[in-house]
Amino acid sequence: MTGAATACVDEHGPRNDELCARCGGLCCCLYLAHDENGDYIGDEWLPQYIDLWLQRLSDCGALVITDTRYEAGAAGIAPLHDPRISHLPTPEGAAYRASLPEWVDVMKCQFCHPESGCMLPRDSRAPICGEFACDLWEDVG
Ligand code: SF4
Ligand code: SF4
Repeated sequence: MTGAATACVDEHGPRNDELCARCGGLCCCLYLAHDENGDYIGDEWLPQYIDLWLQRLSDCGALVITDTRYEAGAAGIAPLHDPRISHLPTPEGAAYRASLPEWVDVMKCQFCHPESGCMLPRDSRAPICGEFACDLWEDVG
């Protein structure tokens, strides 16, 4: 859960921004719903996982979500895509994906810029984004 030069931990524990910057924020690749052949494999888990992250991002105030709204929360940073639509294996999903700027990576968190990582200020991220540290961290202590 973190973007390029950011990721992981603040007051919650150790940090290794250099490692995360080198990695490019792989843990922000939340919605990786295609296999190596490009086939959709999200049927069994993706909708529930999207809901989980919408809840996390709305609980921390980064997103405002209602029946009719899906927009920037307190930090004023607009999400790059709506995973509920950007992963639909339907014509509606395809049209939505085609409408997004080419550089938007829908496999990543809606707040993850492909070059600069997480666009949210640290204190506006979901708590898990500050607590997560992947296995790579074990090698560097
Ligand atoms: S909120 Fe930021 S740190 Fe958390 S998953 Fe999204 S891009 Fe990564
Ligand atoms: S926690 Fe791991 S996967 Fe996430 S950005 Fe850091 S090194 Fe990459």
